[in-house]
Amino acid sequence: MKGYAMLAIGKTGWIEKETPVCGPLNAICRPIVLAPCTSDIHTVWEGAIGERHDMILGHEAVAEVVEVGALVKSFKPGDKVIIPAITPDWNSVEAQNGYQMHSGGMLGGWKFSNFKDGVFGELFHVNDADGNLALLPEGMDPVAACMLSDMVPTGFHGAELADIQFGDSVAVIGIGPVGLMSVAASALRGASHIYAVGSRPNCIQLAKEYGATDLINYREGDIVEQIMKKTGGTGVDRVIIAGGDVDTFAQAISILKPGGKIGNVNYLGDGDYIKIPRNEWGCGMGHKVIAGGLMPGGRLRMEKLASLITTGRLDAGKLVTHRFEGFDKIEEALLLMKNKPADLIKPVVVI
Ligand code: NDP
Ligand code: ZN
Repeated sequence: MKGYAMLAIGKTGWIEKETPVCGPLNAICRPIVLAPCTSDIHTVWEGAIGERHDMILGHEAVAEVVEVGALVKSFKPGDKVIIPAITPDWNSVEAQNGYQMHSGGMLGGWKFSNFKDGVFGELFHVNDADGNLALLPEGMDPVAACMLSDMVPTGFHGAELADIQFGDSVAVIGIGPVGLMSVAASALRGASHIYAVGSRPNCIQLAKEYGATDLINYREGDIVEQIMKKTGGTGVDRVIIAGGDVDTFAQAISILKPGGKIGNVNYLGDGDYIKIPRNEWGCGMGHKVIAGGLMPGGRLRMEKLASLITTGRLDAGKLVTHRFEGFDKIEEALLLMKNKPADLIKPVVVI
């Protein structure tokens, strides 16, 4: 079968691979809608997780089930399903400890386009099908549903990591599709002021629609100065990091009140260390917590987040700015993601 792959660091192309084999607990799926991700760009062009050869890319999909293993109870061929980017091993000790995204070792729940072929193939394999697939709700647009694979759960996990409470002031650094979902999640969690940091006009517009109260353009001046000024010098209760680089942590610490929390979901593609400014961290005594996490993945999360869409509490489809038709357009969509034109938020490929 055909797939679009990372051939080596910095190199992608079409390859032929053996059709995946379904184990007793697994499923084989055929994509209906696919989306490239900024993480694919970090993986290929920054070599962020190291060398990968001839590995099919992609981890965001809505698909049709083609085959299920003998022990799969909840799904059958022909079902339309949402595929989470993170597909943990649910019987692992890490999952029993509440950290299923690290099943089998750090980041081990992230299998697609990391440890095994991803979803940019004519067919792909899903481990633990009962634990990792979610039925596409009746009537849900599969394009919007594809945002449930990764953009919605990752952005929302940023809000969980930052532990947002009613009335908290929140800064969301980065308002690409992930950060935009962090803005939406902050609003749903009852944040008061939401300071959204970005620069692209359509992201800024969408941030307002998802609930941002203040827009900060990091290209127009230091965000620490801008946010400290807007908060009367106190800073914010919570920060979600969904963009920037290793230096962004210094800014996040600086704008955080003592007792504040940072939730990072940004995938740091390069640099050996993040920076924590000593004074602003209270010389180590400021009670400023940094939590960084891979989104948890799995079926229940997909089902719950999908219910926010079906009840009209969240419109994730607004993230999609570019739509391609046909499997062969994966390359074009991925390269668009790499080049990030100013009007791009999220592209999808409808097969
Ligand atoms: P985008 O590249 O679309 O968005 C990044 C955002 O950060 C943009 O708003 C950009 O602004 C802003 N930004 C860039 N540099 C700075 C800076 N120096 N200071 C402040 N803001 C800055 O990325 P995505 O939304 O697609 O993804 C965000 C991150 O989340 C990526 O690193 C991705 O790999 C990661 N990710 C993590 C997952 C997880 O499970 N933890 C899962 C999926 C993705 P501008 O408007 O100028 O572009
Ligand atoms: Zn992704």
